[in-house]
Amino acid sequence: MENIKPVLIVGSGPTGLILAAELTRRNVPCRIIDRKESPTTSSRAFTIHARTLEIFETMGIVDRYLDTGIKSFGFLFNFEGLEKKPVLDFRILRSRYPYILVYSQAETERLLREHLIEDHKIKIEWNTELSSLVKNDDNTLHVEIKDRATGDITTMDPSYVIGCDGVHSFVRKSMGLPFEGEAYEGMIMQMMDTSTKGYDCDPDWIQYFMKDQNFLLTTPLPNGNHRILISDMGETAKTEGSRVEAYQEVIDGHGLDFKVVEPEWVTQWVIWKRLANIYREGDVFLCGDSAHVHSPSGGQGMNSCIQDAWNLAWKLAMVLRGEAQPALLDTYEVERKPIAQQVIDGTDAMHDIIMAHGRGMTERMALTETPGWQTSVTELVAGISYTYRDHMEHVEGLVDLSDGPAAGDRAPDVNLSSGRRLFEAFQHTGYTLILMPSDSDQDSAKKISDQVSELYSSSIKSEIIDAESREAVAEIYGSDNNGRMYLVRPDGYIAFRSSMNDAKVLHQYLADHLIAK
Ligand SMILES: Cc1cc2nc3c(=O)[nH]c(=O)nc-3n(C[C@H](O)[C@H](O)[C@H](O)COP(=O)(O)OP(=O)(O)OC[C@H]3O[C@@H](n4cnc5c(N)ncnc54)[C@H](O)[C@@H]3O)c2cc1C
Repeated sequence: MENIKPVLIVGSGPTGLILAAELTRRNVPCRIIDRKESPTTSSRAFTIHARTLEIFETMGIVDRYLDTGIKSFGFLFNFEGLEKKPVLDFRILRSRYPYILVYSQAETERLLREHLIEDHKIKIEWNTELSSLVKNDDNTLHVEIKDRATGDITTMDPSYVIGCDGVHSFVRKSMGLPFEGEAYEGMIMQMMDTSTKGYDCDPDWIQYFMKDQNFLLTTPLPNGNHRILISDMGETAKTEGSRVEAYQEVIDGHGLDFKVVEPEWVTQWVIWKRLANIYREGDVFLCGDSAHVHSPSGGQGMNSCIQDAWNLAWKLAMVLRGEAQPALLDTYEVERKPIAQQVIDGTDAMHDIIMAHGRGMTERMALTETPGWQTSVTELVAGISYTYRDHMEHVEGLVDLSDGPAAGDRAPDVNLSSGRRLFEAFQHTGYTLILMPSDSDQDSAKKISDQVSELYSSSIKSEIIDAESREAVAEIYGSDNNGRMYLVRPDGYIAFRSSMNDAKVLHQYLADHLIAK
């Protein structure tokens, strides 16, 4: 740790908090600064999706969320005047978390901060602003950090700077990186967290109500309040009189009987879809909202930010610790930028259904009737089906398999015979080599495992699947007469898969990517 120059994380939103926790878990020193005086208390994002919960599980913190969050079945679509009510039902997910966890972003961040401070002994430096970021002549970084209370400036030469500093990113601007895109013209989003009286919607669902000229979302929040979100072309925002009256008018207009009582938080904002053209400039990375923003449809913003940080943290740590080749860092943008583009496209498509103000209900309903729509959208929104498959490099000499998850896919969970789950084998900081031997291959599996741990003891752990668990694992991961193996990355995605006969190819793959110790 002493030999590693600290990483500077700019911003302590969900993105910065995940990065700081995951770097520290891997003994990489970092500083996390935030220009705000103290944490934000407003709720903002209220949806935690299955893939994010899987990440929290690997971090060892998921129970803190499950204890107090509300498990919602998913989204229920009410189109004015139409009987049919399509749903995105998250109970179909093949995950330990087949639901949307409704949770306030302020609380999500509070638990992440607690994890950082109590479990990793890292403090967030509040009221501390990145005020200058330049490259030295040798392309290393030099920053100025301002104490906003005193105005004092200190300097630092960090190993890397990670811009987790949100939509208006100073880091992105300092590097002159464009943030291309546009606003959803004329639309104003408004949101209220409020107590209500006589809430008459099914509380198991996040309810979407669509009308020609406006959109209303309602859902219970864990603290007993309800989230009410309205989107229109600005009419409600411009209404004279109280916010409560303006919101109540929209609620009444959808034929609902419940009453807004006492708002705790009210906000309004305009929405954009924008994407940074590059995520990395030398030793500077953009992560989270600093790299992409999109429509809030489906509630994926915070989730994709967390998943960016999850993708980057282990790569940075392994490179800084001398365990992986620096080229690993190039895969961050290669993998995450297309996902951001898919999220932008997906939320745009959802936007056309729920917020295409002025377009008829039948036309919008028709968009939900495309074959496979429910399953594919649910799995994408949950983050379960996103894959890096198309960006995995070709492995020389590999005879690819025809079944099971491919390199780049999320490695699915399996219940093992011992009462353990496969996911538990992933709860360490490195790669996991899953060896699935047939009866006659036990010795080869042991040999591969021994060779790998001799060379890569700090970065790979092996999991040899026993005979009792074989069938359950094969059902999901496929099987071969000669046994099969999967190398799972620290972020739970498959790096490599092959028959156990291809041990030589595996060793070459490891030699090309990792650094033996
Ligand atoms: C009203 C609203 C509702 C939303 N609803 C949802 C939802 O339902 N579901 C969902 O998934 N997402 C939702 N989002 C999106 C979600 O809130 C964001 O995607 C998420 O907060 C982005 O996290 P981040 O850490 O990347 O950036 P941020 O949370 O924006 O954090 C950036 C931090 O960087 C700090 N900073 C900025 N500049 C500097 C500097 N120069 N020096 C030091 N610190 C700096 C800021 O003070 C801030 O704390 C919503 C957003 C809004 C505004």
